[in-house]
Amino acid sequence: MRLQIKGICHSYDQVEALRDIDFGIEPGEVVALIGPSGCGKSTLLSIIGGMLTPTKGEVLICDQATPDGCLNPLTYVFQDFALLPWRTVAGNISLVLEDHGLSKTDRDARVAEVLEQTNLWDFRDAYPKQLSGGMKQRVGIARALAVRPAVLLMDEPLSALDAQTRILLLDEFAALFARTGMTAVYVTHNLNEAVRLANRVVALRRRPGTIKEIHTIDIPLA
Ligand code: ADP
Ligand code: ADP
Repeated sequence: MRLQIKGICHSYDQVEALRDIDFGIEPGEVVALIGPSGCGKSTLLSIIGGMLTPTKGEVLICDQATPDGCLNPLTYVFQDFALLPWRTVAGNISLVLEDHGLSKTDRDARVAEVLEQTNLWDFRDAYPKQLSGGMKQRVGIARALAVRPAVLLMDEPLSALDAQTRILLLDEFAALFARTGMTAVYVTHNLNEAVRLANRVVALRRRPGTIKEIHTIDIPLA
């Protein structure tokens, strides 16, 4: 799936959050949206994900192609994990597949696949309260991957974690993206995260925020 962000403007009542944002997201590309707090990153991600209608402009889908078995083309990964406490790791992942009406056989196959991808197999029967923050975020990613998104949308997925876990997960994300050819938009205010993960970095300025710089950074993902 190829997306074109065209002339996006957004205002909340009196607050102008975004002005004239233009860029494209190519298949297989990880785009990092960086900028200081309040510059409009979350707003832009919500617009890309279709959760928020922009005041002006549009997100064009230029190429409809989605992965085999894709249940939700644009899938959002929550910063605070949003796991159900009374469901196991496998149960949390399976739930979203139940919502999409997949059979038990299909659900089990997908759950097993993403548990492997995110190194969670041994924790499949654990409950969220038994998991560290890093493990919970792995579950959040696994749950998103299970719907086989065309574009994975992440808003500061590591911000709730300690520094050591952030570094560990960052390496895992980089390896996962490289292995799966995942297309992703990754919001962060941390330049190191952006440079480690992204093929392209889109920098927003503080409000009244207009994109001034779009850099292409080629970084081989090991
Ligand atoms: P983050 O930058 O971590 O995504 P938030 O999205 O929670 O943080 O908030 C960013 C800024 O937006 C904060 O200054 C917050 O006060 C403001 N904000 C968030 N939601 C609202 C709202 N409903 N009304 C007014 N301001 C808001
Ligand atoms: P970032 O994710 O870069 O921190 P946001 O997109 O959260 O920035 O916010 C951009 C601007 O819009 C900020 O000035 C913020 O206070 C404002 N804002 C965000 N959400 C709301 C909201 N729901 N109501 C009013 N103002 C908001």
